[in-house]
Amino acid sequence: MTQTADVVVIGGGVNGASIAYALAARGTKVTLVEKGAMGDGASGRSSALVRMHYTNEWDARLAWASYPVFRDWPDVMGGDPVFTRTGFMNVVGPAYADNLRKNVEMLRGIGVDTVALTPRQVKDLQPFVNVDDIGAAAYEPESGYANPSAVIDGFRRRIQELGGRVLQWTSVTGIVRRESRVLGVETSAGAIEAGAVVVAAGAWAPRLCREIGLTLPARPKAIDTVVVARPPELAEPHMIFIDNPQGTYFRTESRSLTLVGVPCPVWDIDPDTLGTGVAPHASAEGAALLTHRIPAMERATLSRGYRAFDLYSGDRHAILGAVDGIDGLYLATAFSGSGFKISPAVGTCLAELILDGRAKTVDIEPFNVRRFAEGRVVEGPYPYATRPDQSGPGTVV
Ligand SMILES: Cc1cc2nc3c(=O)[nH]c(=O)nc-3n(C[C@H](O)[C@H](O)[C@H](O)COP(=O)(O)OP(=O)(O)OC[C@H]3O[C@@H](n4cnc5c(N)ncnc54)[C@H](O)[C@@H]3O)c2cc1C
Repeated sequence: MTQTADVVVIGGGVNGASIAYALAARGTKVTLVEKGAMGDGASGRSSALVRMHYTNEWDARLAWASYPVFRDWPDVMGGDPVFTRTGFMNVVGPAYADNLRKNVEMLRGIGVDTVALTPRQVKDLQPFVNVDDIGAAAYEPESGYANPSAVIDGFRRRIQELGGRVLQWTSVTGIVRRESRVLGVETSAGAIEAGAVVVAAGAWAPRLCREIGLTLPARPKAIDTVVVARPPELAEPHMIFIDNPQGTYFRTESRSLTLVGVPCPVWDIDPDTLGTGVAPHASAEGAALLTHRIPAMERATLSRGYRAFDLYSGDRHAILGAVDGIDGLYLATAFSGSGFKISPAVGTCLAELILDGRAKTVDIEPFNVRRFAEGRVVEGPYPYATRPDQSGPGTVV
């Protein structure tokens, strides 16, 4: 017998899970379909930084609307805490110091607790940091990181408590479309008829969309991470750093480890066949980046490394919203290495869009896929340099 749902969400990453939760919380009959275990894609390997610093207001508003959900998780979602507060700094080179100060003003205008610091003030707060090539830093004392698997599992638990269905180890084999309307999905466990379908399939989204004639301006890219054990003199956790001059970030993990994001210009990977071992050069490159910013890390030891991936759009911002000409089809994908921290608000906004016709919590219209055809990009007036591993062949706009 054919199953039915009001909405089918394809993909059990953090964004699909958040969307399905937000729909279930509003009484919608929702079915989430995940081809593996939930968190099998980018979300399960995410560094899950939770910070608000962006150079455009829309992403910042999504992050800001999401932040209390992470911080107050036991009250909002039930279960154990998922958030570790560390403090956060976004550091830029001298050429971007003015831009950073203007972005801090923009962020303060929407309510974010952030200030611009001089290199001297950075050193006062984190004395072990090399500030020689830093022009300014944006400091967010309340920011930190989330526990990815606990967040995804919490969303799953709430979906099911609210009466939603979660089908793990079930593949969507095709989206069913008749002319300009979506009718549901075919899955490895049979058809599901639905009034709306949300594609939250991460790096697999272009393949699914291509089969119904929709080309996404997005490409899957690999992401390398190495993890080091800190030396005894750095035993106390440091703040999270996004290090723009070097195109990397560092964050603590537990009380002894530090994660390092290693630039990885490896595009058009196949998410089904990508190995998860760290690339041979990544450990040395990660060590060099970390030691440049925190020289005492020279005495850190390699703990492990891994390769993961995400879908990157042409302007390296998410694709969110309805699809012109295909009624009932919604996209929540191409989070471009930055989609964990905004997932609670993405869920709320997609539920509002599907049920009310418009997202009210944050205006997500700037993220609609039509922006590429219209020549619009998601960016504010004061950008920083694009990370070299995120430009070049991956840039389709
Ligand atoms: C190493 C790393 C570090 C990161 N660090 C940060 C960070 O610090 N902060 C931040 O905000 N973001 C970060 N990100 C980005 C963030 O994790 C991703 O943008 C986000 O997790 C994407 O979530 P998603 O739900 O869109 O996709 P995914 O987590 O990729 O989920 C998609 C799911 O869809 C399923 N699926 C695909 N096709 C089908 C099908 N046909 N049928 C059924 N299911 C299907 C997949 O199995 C998968 O589970 C990082 C990412 C990585 C990889």
